[in-house]
Amino acid sequence: MQIISKTNFVAALIGIVSLTVASQAQAQPDPRYKIHDFNRPQPPLVDPGYVGDNQRTGKAPSDAIVLFDGSNLDNWVASDGSPTKWVVKDGVMECVPGSGYIRSLQCFGDCQLHVEWSEPENISGSSQGRGNSGVFLGGDRYEIQVLDSYKNKTYADGHAGAIYAQYPPEVLPIRKPGEWNVYDIVYIAPRFNDDGSVKSPARLTVFFNDVLVQWDRELTGPTGWLSRAPYSKHDYKQPISFQDHGNPVKFRNVWVRELGCKDKVFKYSNSYLDKLAGIYESGGMRWEIYRDGEQLYLNWVGNRNNSWKMTAESTTHFVTDRTDFAFDFADFNDEGIPQSVYWTMEGNKTRMEREKK
Ligand code: MG
Repeated sequence: MQIISKTNFVAALIGIVSLTVASQAQAQPDPRYKIHDFNRPQPPLVDPGYVGDNQRTGKAPSDAIVLFDGSNLDNWVASDGSPTKWVVKDGVMECVPGSGYIRSLQCFGDCQLHVEWSEPENISGSSQGRGNSGVFLGGDRYEIQVLDSYKNKTYADGHAGAIYAQYPPEVLPIRKPGEWNVYDIVYIAPRFNDDGSVKSPARLTVFFNDVLVQWDRELTGPTGWLSRAPYSKHDYKQPISFQDHGNPVKFRNVWVRELGCKDKVFKYSNSYLDKLAGIYESGGMRWEIYRDGEQLYLNWVGNRNNSWKMTAESTTHFVTDRTDFAFDFADFNDEGIPQSVYWTMEGNKTRMEREKK
């Protein structure tokens, strides 16, 4: 049993990074077993042995991006960018079966991700039907399984802590249904060449209730039921998603520490960007903000050949690529349409009003 105390946790992570350089441990799924092989040995149930575990709900590190602190789902949307139907109850985010995946608005590349999750106290279903959800990196591509694996037999590569259909967890340090589990995940995003081929695959390390269950696993590609599909090229930064697999699984204390590139990337719905789009004016100065594809652009009205890309730094704050302009959308009406935008240039802030149609 490998137990790493909280105080040694960061040191352990650093150790993993250096070991990663020296080792290619478990670089491929075990060739002796098929996908979802029922003959594969079950990972042994392990008591994580953490005193006061069920109270473990500490604050995020000061440099973390907090995605869910128990108050609201402002940082979350449905997969297509529309409002999520998941709910917040008593400081906890809960999957509403049938509502679809939930994803972060902000996108992440290499990162450390902390997620706490809890299974329904009243057990219902069995095997993969019991408390199934999942934590996905890379959008909805790379799943670390969430399952009520407490005394629940299923295929080994589908247990809680599994990199689904690729790597079973070394052991199962899961708590009883109704108690809280903790994932601390290190995700290294895949890199791609210009021609779409893989430069370096995605890698995952997972601590499950402080017990190491996945160590620097090299993913074969996206995870999926009965499949090991090849990689297809995608942007470095992608949302983090939780799965709706028809079970009311709960989540809390979700935070991320970015490793490396700190550029902020948000993935909005086109309908949200369309609400921001419009003509804004002040004292004869008129800006057009419009959407093309999944991107907002800015130009002097009537000059779309000379448009500047607008990059989000929060849900309302955008900056332009060509010069040091910032735009803060404000005065949202009941339909979520901003009635003004504050344009900042060289420290001067100008309020511009949306042109009435
Ligand atoms: Mg799942």
